[in-house]
Amino acid sequence: MTSTDPRPADRAGDTGSTLVTGIGSLVTNDPEAGSGGPLGLLADAAVVLEAGRIAWVGPAAAAPTGADRVFDAAGRAVLPGFVDSHSHLVFAGDRTAEFNARMSGTAYTAGGIRTTVAATRAATDQALDANVARYVAEALRQGTTVLECKSGYGLTVEDEARALRIAGRHTDETTYLGAHVVAPEYADDPAGYVDLVTGPMLDACAPHARWVDVFCERGAFDGDQARAVLTAGARRGLTPRVHANQLTEGPGVRLAVELGAASADHCTHLSDADVAALADAAGTTVATLLPGAEFSTRAAYPDARRLLDAGATVALSTDCNPGSSFTTSVPFCIAVAVREMGMTPDEALWSATAGGAAALRRTDVGRVAVGARADLVLLDAPSHVHLAYRPGVPLVAGVWSAGRRVV
Ligand SMILES: [Zn+2]
Repeated sequence: MTSTDPRPADRAGDTGSTLVTGIGSLVTNDPEAGSGGPLGLLADAAVVLEAGRIAWVGPAAAAPTGADRVFDAAGRAVLPGFVDSHSHLVFAGDRTAEFNARMSGTAYTAGGIRTTVAATRAATDQALDANVARYVAEALRQGTTVLECKSGYGLTVEDEARALRIAGRHTDETTYLGAHVVAPEYADDPAGYVDLVTGPMLDACAPHARWVDVFCERGAFDGDQARAVLTAGARRGLTPRVHANQLTEGPGVRLAVELGAASADHCTHLSDADVAALADAAGTTVATLLPGAEFSTRAAYPDARRLLDAGATVALSTDCNPGSSFTTSVPFCIAVAVREMGMTPDEALWSATAGGAAALRRTDVGRVAVGARADLVLLDAPSHVHLAYRPGVPLVAGVWSAGRRVV
């Protein structure tokens, strides 16, 4: 914190207007508003926040006067809040031992999910709710103002519906992932489990979810099973998103594109046909890359450069979960994407803000423009480039969520 930050007593009010001025570098994600291509960069900028929305954006010298409070960014960078479009936060326990074993030479498979399922089923509602609240707050401190959250560690009708009810207390972006892995009770009857997921479990979960997801992967669900899950969800008004091509090449990406899914997530093992399909579907189906998973499983990273050069829309998210990517940090994902996946700092920042918004089919977040939700991140740095340039450094010095200073 620097001396220009307001004291906590000044942060409480969410009524009236706030002028954030003295912004050395403002990322708008509005190419018309500034320079730097898609990021729409504005130097020496100001923003007015009012009634939870952005009321004005422009040069600081031209900013309207009369705001109820003024915050001076003192030359630092301001960005849209991060939009993390892929997380799994309703869980209990952790998998420290599994991570430790993996870093000592054991390969990751989808089966470890069942460890978390057992712990999650045994947990109280209060314990699960407190866990979600803890990780949402942790994400917020690192600049995430919109966060999607999946079920998938219950795998019974009651436990999946419970997970979505709990997630719904913390975010509107809730995803039904009954098809995470086959429940242990159905180990010998995967077809019976798909019937449950597309039948009574969907009935119980659909009222609490916006999206439907499936882990389309060897060891989880094949293409036909994934299609059954997604089309059943779509019939109940849930829009598909797919865990696709994480561990191996497979049908996930092309199924996501064929069904008009909002995103195909992971995209680590892609054929040329997969890349072409995602490029053709740009603007409809976003390729969401989750480098925390490759980092935490010591696996090869997805090739963002290949997707971007083909013309696909790319998002970056955390995949926060206790098994394969236990991080809530979007800045960490940005740094890895730049260092390891061929993204420029500008591309990585866009993908973690506007890209995430596209993956959630939101136009009210992920940008700083009049009418958008007033979600801002203040960096203790002169430029967004520092997120990759200074990896691991806690650069987020302030966060506004819907116009209210929360960090
Ligand atoms: Zn995931």
